[in-house]
Amino acid sequence: MRYGFVIDQNRCIGCHACTVACKEEHQVPLGVFRTWVKYVEKGEYPNTSRHFGVMRCNHCDAAPCVTICPTKALYRRSDGIIDFDNQRCIGCKSCMQACPYDALYIDPNNNTAAKCNFCAHRVEANLEPACVIVCPTQAILAGDLDDPASKVARAVATQKVCVRKPEKGTEPKLFYVGIEDDLLHPTRLSRQSGYVFAEQRDHRPSEKSFDPALTREVYDVAHPAPWGWKIAAYLWTKSIAAGVMIVAAMLMALAGNSSMRIFSIVSPMIALVALGITMALLVLDLKRPDRFYYLLTKPNFRSWLVIGAYILMGFGAMCVVWLLYGLFKDFVPGVVLVLTTVLAAASACYSAFLFAQAKGRDFWQGKWSFCWHLLVQALVAGAATWVICQAVTNFRMPFGGIQPAHVLVLSLFLSLITLLMEIAIPRGTEDGKRAKKVLLQGELSRRFWLSAVALGLILPITLFLLDPPLAPSIAAVLALYGLLWFEYLWVKAGQSVPLS
Ligand code: SF4
Repeated sequence: MRYGFVIDQNRCIGCHACTVACKEEHQVPLGVFRTWVKYVEKGEYPNTSRHFGVMRCNHCDAAPCVTICPTKALYRRSDGIIDFDNQRCIGCKSCMQACPYDALYIDPNNNTAAKCNFCAHRVEANLEPACVIVCPTQAILAGDLDDPASKVARAVATQKVCVRKPEKGTEPKLFYVGIEDDLLHPTRLSRQSGYVFAEQRDHRPSEKSFDPALTREVYDVAHPAPWGWKIAAYLWTKSIAAGVMIVAAMLMALAGNSSMRIFSIVSPMIALVALGITMALLVLDLKRPDRFYYLLTKPNFRSWLVIGAYILMGFGAMCVVWLLYGLFKDFVPGVVLVLTTVLAAASACYSAFLFAQAKGRDFWQGKWSFCWHLLVQALVAGAATWVICQAVTNFRMPFGGIQPAHVLVLSLFLSLITLLMEIAIPRGTEDGKRAKKVLLQGELSRRFWLSAVALGLILPITLFLLDPPLAPSIAAVLALYGLLWFEYLWVKAGQSVPLS
């Protein structure tokens, strides 16, 4: 059994009755929607036309929201309906990043994710969903796609149907008949901040302003970007925690000395503080921080949020072991060095896989290149932190040994080359290209080139080459500053492309 919808846009009159019936059935609060009717207009007066698209969850057979949900709050029922359990939801918003169709929202009443659930309670009572019952033109059909006698199966078999973004591989079970093609491709639309009935307050950075030649979006509902500065700051503090330990292990190994107190004691202390802030940021970013422990008690081991939480905990545990050896034995055994370095690298890199599970965001799909970039960023952050520590405590590596400043300048070079390669690699999809354009040439470009590239990479490298007084310390502070901006802009650019 596979429940699905067929929506015939040739019949739809854009009356919003489905939206209102859904709101009433599920007591959906003001400002958020389980289903909504999007309007677009084409042409120039007097030759204009208006088209409607009824938007909602597609009850995907390969639902990325189910995969990424860390607590199995989103799940697929045996009848194919993608339902949710708000008692398990921690409000991490990752499902909103994974869904390529903007189908989810955070319910302001209980701060948990919600969406169309096919009126599962009505289906169980042999009733049709509220939107189907209310539609005055019978534009919405709901039923079992596996039953050849059902209306939906017959419509799919006999009419020309299409789905939204089939290239995402989500296998949607919402089929459209007669939908205007531009409604299926939101990046083709000319966006406006003022609509027929409303203003769009979450107008996102975009390089496309009003253009009469394009199809115009004239009514939509707001879809604010789910992740903000806390996620950027978490990437930054995580880089510092991981980088401090990786660089310490490297320097100890290169010096052939595992008993240097600055590394055996101070490094795990810095890493544990940075890790503590990282975890605090993650918890504070949850809409339900009181449920953060559900990551451990109700885990979905397919979600990189859960895998990442275990990696961070393992890394934290190894930092404690390292610190205990430093405090009580005055040296760190090789096995502890290796295990901590591996877990530090995993802590730095796992976010690449988490971001790639956000299937809605094409800009974040290059998981291996981003993984490498995160590792290099951890080296930059770790080396910069050690350079600042060196300036404060005046410690020196053994005579002739490699200094943290050497690691910093090398990792800055690597970071610059990695960034240039990331920029040079063409993005395969329209959404990916557009997000890249927003970052490199659009609304975010000034900050990106000035703060992340010029101040964060080029100036620190130049300072090392010119070697004025205090060059390493100034370069280290600039590198950390640039890295924070990079994370912020990267997170923002990925979410700049409209999904619906
Ligand atoms: Fe619905 Fe989006 Fe999940 Fe697909 S990915 S099942 S459209 S919420």
